[in-house]
Amino acid sequence: MVRALAILAAIAAIAFFLFGGAFGRKRGPRDEVEDLIRCDMCGAYLTRKEAIVKGGGIFCSKECAEKRR
Ligand SMILES: [Zn+2]
Repeated sequence: MVRALAILAAIAAIAFFLFGGAFGRKRGPRDEVEDLIRCDMCGAYLTRKEAIVKGGGIFCSKECAEKRR
């Protein structure tokens, strides 16, 4: 009986993990496209992929990152 409950709990945990993973994957690519951030130096909008993070700031290009310093 205890083993049956343990198996049930394991299945529930796996199901929760799988659903959580599926939701995470579904949301991931969409965020990448829509999530725009601003350059700390010139205020230009850019995606997280393009951003250059330097000294705690976010910049659109190496030029902006250098200017900040
Ligand atoms: Zn910039």
